[in-house]
Amino acid sequence: MKNMAKKEFKAESKKLMELMINSIYTNKDIFLRELISNASDAIDKLHYESLTNDNVKVKKKEFEIFLKTDKEKRTLTIMDNGIGMSKTELEINLGTIAKSGSEVFKNENEHKKDIDIIGQFGVGFYSAFMIAQKITVLSRSYHSDEAYLWKSSGIDGYTIEKSEKDSYGTEITLYLKEDTEDVKYFEYLEEYKLRELIKKYSNYITYPIKMETTHSHKKEDSEEYETHTEVETLNDMIPLWKRNKAKITDEEYNTFYSDKFFDYESPLKTIHTSAEGLVSYNSMLFIPSHAPYDYYSKNYEKGLQLYSNGVLIMEKCRDLLPDYFSFVKGVVDSPDLSLNISREILQQDKNLKMIAKNIESKITKELTTMLADDRENYEKFWEAFGMQIKFGVYDSFGMNKEKLQDLLLFVSSQDLKFKTLEEYINQMKEEQNSIYYVCGESVSACDSMPQVEMVKEKGYEVLYCKDYVDEFALQILREYKGKKFVNVSKDDLDLDTEEEKELLKKENEDNKSMFDFMKESLKDIKEIKFTNRLKNHPVCLTSVGNLSIEMEKVMNAMPNNNGVKAEKVLEININHNIAKKLKKLYEQDQEELKAYTKILYAEARLIEGLPILNATEIASLICDTLSKE
Ligand code: ADP
Repeated sequence: MKNMAKKEFKAESKKLMELMINSIYTNKDIFLRELISNASDAIDKLHYESLTNDNVKVKKKEFEIFLKTDKEKRTLTIMDNGIGMSKTELEINLGTIAKSGSEVFKNENEHKKDIDIIGQFGVGFYSAFMIAQKITVLSRSYHSDEAYLWKSSGIDGYTIEKSEKDSYGTEITLYLKEDTEDVKYFEYLEEYKLRELIKKYSNYITYPIKMETTHSHKKEDSEEYETHTEVETLNDMIPLWKRNKAKITDEEYNTFYSDKFFDYESPLKTIHTSAEGLVSYNSMLFIPSHAPYDYYSKNYEKGLQLYSNGVLIMEKCRDLLPDYFSFVKGVVDSPDLSLNISREILQQDKNLKMIAKNIESKITKELTTMLADDRENYEKFWEAFGMQIKFGVYDSFGMNKEKLQDLLLFVSSQDLKFKTLEEYINQMKEEQNSIYYVCGESVSACDSMPQVEMVKEKGYEVLYCKDYVDEFALQILREYKGKKFVNVSKDDLDLDTEEEKELLKKENEDNKSMFDFMKESLKDIKEIKFTNRLKNHPVCLTSVGNLSIEMEKVMNAMPNNNGVKAEKVLEININHNIAKKLKKLYEQDQEELKAYTKILYAEARLIEGLPILNATEIASLICDTLSKE
């Protein structure tokens, strides 16, 4: 016999199969959902071809998925009249598991054995090995007259041989495992069980899932029963998004969401709309309650599933979501979209643009409402996706900043809780013209910054920015409702009285020669001066110009950075003893003043979270100073 040599599975597939075969996974039921969803995808593909290619002649009403059981042989067969698979396709599709699945499997599964990995990610075809000791797949591609039979009894490989099949499509036969004390695999041959599983997992599959069922009736005028069989459709078929909102329960939404988007947690918010008018569509959108593991990586792809009259035309339609809402999952179904449409044309499609616009404003509205009425959930949302919104403010030179600014939250110095910009403004002092903020590595780093202390002391609230994008976003915003954003560790705060200002100015002028002298011992400092900005701390580092110290850190953390530097100012607390001491040293011991200058600068860098480049020198200077008699 030709082609009967046993082939090995690819390495990742093997690992996954091992898990399936020896599954300790409790929810074995989901194998059926996986096989049915594959069957439905295969029909979708053929349906799509029939609508876009005149040579493909199949009728929509003929499409079906059929379940057949044989209790004697202990087999369950799932048949579909979808696109089918050629020999090569059998080889590629069933010899290796889909990449995404296997990757997740590798990363997640080393440590956690019994997690809901299968339910979470949908590992597809292989899940059938949880209940089957042997699987055969008989398939004929729509585009061919030849049929092939794929067989496998698990880990040691599979064979493919030429076979016969009357019509296109696929038949998957599962030879159930022997029953054990714990698991009665036989149950998967029972009508009630299959009925239950279809209702639970596959109710909205848009093609009929049929099965021959038996019914018994009492004979008329007799105590006897008679049975008859009929072919019954087990699923409702109407997709959830086309059903009446009022009649859908939260549980139905949540199950739909987790099945479709492989998320084990319920969504934070479900937005179900149906629009009619210039363009008609149904959409069902979900805001997840946590960021997917790859959300902030470049592997993450945004997009909504796009259907035209219940036929999937695109798995991830990017153009339906702006980047700042890339976390939204969902489906859009519109009869006004042409099926026979390429991706390039779709981008230009007027209807699609209109839908995208509506969807965007719908999401904005829902988030705004959530912020107002359901603060707890909004904060949860913010923790997961706030960063993306801040990117949105900054992106495209601030093109969308007005739309997004009221969605922003920042931690406030007042109670370390989240505040909106509006809340900040509403409770600021009457004469206050600025919104104060500070950037640091964490909320606690911000909260203990020397520059912040004085501003708080004077009764002003400071917003703490811990994400690197924050400062870029605030710089693009520039102001909110006429109030300027002022960086406490950079900009002029203008918090002093005229008298204090005068005094400081005079002190700085009088000591100019000392500062010039001090600057000579520091290489990368633009200016040294006395300040009123500090309360208890002796020194701090601020910057002038466009680039702040936080930005310097961010930029230098990127690959290929060209070592940009903020223009730094070493500010010395004029009310601190150190100010007097420096003046005295300038008069009496200039060598010592050099050492003090270097130590103070190092101290200021430390507080800012900048590295000390000449650490050895500084360490010995400190020790010398400490050991002075
Ligand atoms: P996934 O469905 O996630 O891609 P599966 O392991 O479930 O992964 O299936 C692998 C591939 O095998 C599918 O992508 C599809 O191309 C093919 N396939 C599976 N079942 C069928 C079927 N009933 N008809 C046609 N192709 C199928």
